[in-house]
Amino acid sequence: MDLGLQNCFANGIIEQDIPLHDKNWFKTGGNARFFSQPTSTKDFQVSLQFAQNNSLPTFVFGSGANLLVSDSGFNGIAVHPNMQNVHFVAVSDKKWLVTVETGVLIDDLIVQCLERGLVGLEPFSGIPGTIGGAVFINLHYFSARIGQSFVQGQVINRTTGDIHTLDRDAFKFGYNDSILHNKNYYLLNATFEVQKVSELEIAYTRGRRDEIIRQRNSRYPRERTCGSFFRNFHKHELEMGNEKAIHPYIAYYLDKSGVKGSLRSGGAVVSHKHANMLITDRDDATSNNIVSLARKMQEIILKEFGLVPQLECQLLGFETYPLLST
Ligand SMILES: Cc1cc2nc3c(=O)[nH]c(=O)nc-3n(C[C@H](O)[C@H](O)[C@H](O)COP(=O)(O)OP(=O)(O)OC[C@H]3O[C@@H](n4cnc5c(N)ncnc54)[C@H](O)[C@@H]3O)c2cc1C
Repeated sequence: MDLGLQNCFANGIIEQDIPLHDKNWFKTGGNARFFSQPTSTKDFQVSLQFAQNNSLPTFVFGSGANLLVSDSGFNGIAVHPNMQNVHFVAVSDKKWLVTVETGVLIDDLIVQCLERGLVGLEPFSGIPGTIGGAVFINLHYFSARIGQSFVQGQVINRTTGDIHTLDRDAFKFGYNDSILHNKNYYLLNATFEVQKVSELEIAYTRGRRDEIIRQRNSRYPRERTCGSFFRNFHKHELEMGNEKAIHPYIAYYLDKSGVKGSLRSGGAVVSHKHANMLITDRDDATSNNIVSLARKMQEIILKEFGLVPQLECQLLGFETYPLLST
């Protein structure tokens, strides 16, 4: 395959100078120099080949629910896979497998499972994002991790466009972690194990799902945020902090620091519902506002507890790391 610039444009696969502010949850950030929305593996390969041919950096993203895009945009090709197939197979009376393409929303998948009497993924009810984003971060809600239901995934190699099927071990799931963080592979589809249950159990599971969504809506902001901005601390990071650094939970320190609902930078403010969730509450909000608010939060926690909060949110288009690193 050797498609040049002209061919890609002619085929309508690659677009130029496309805004990203309407493709992420903060609603901030500049344009992508190039953009594609592949609906098939072949178009995904064409997009990656285009990047190779033109020596462009690539960034693959889903619904932008965990993404902060630089105000100056992204000088590369942003790929937003819109592959939506879902395929169910019964392995036994109780055990089913569902193979789902990367562009499907996790909450839509849960609904489709429940319609077929299948359970297992409902702890993630109400969390925004696609399957690609969910596998990337090993989506978590309290003790549930999406990697626990994961069986295998098909990935595409960034430089060669080759396709591989990798099992759960190869995905190296950890807290906020999977093999996708190395950016050599992008997810095409994932297979999850789900359980077939009785109608009564489905009714119970639907009730549980409604309760999870109700709780989430009361605890967390629902718009113009990326969810948790900073990740929890690792054990070795706590050992580097002062004697007040005792919990892994970042929200513990942010709550104590009194930033919730008050600390602001321009159009970005710490949510009044959750101290680790930043929101943009004005239409003139910029990504720089979010960065400077996050830096202020880091400085407060460093001064008080000797710890430097680290990002859970993913960055796109920043030439240098804009926050304090450890
Ligand atoms: C209101 C709110 C609540 C949230 N609550 C939770 C929560 O409870 N638990 C939780 O874990 N998260 C939570 N999040 C964060 C977010 O929902 C998850 O990180 C989600 O998985 C992001 O999916 P996405 O498709 O939007 O990914 P994006 O934000 O588009 O991308 C995130 C990362 O995934 C990578 N990625 C996306 N697709 C692919 C692919 N096909 N191949 C390789 N890499 C890919 C991107 O490169 C990027 O680095 C919340 C966010 C919001 C806005």
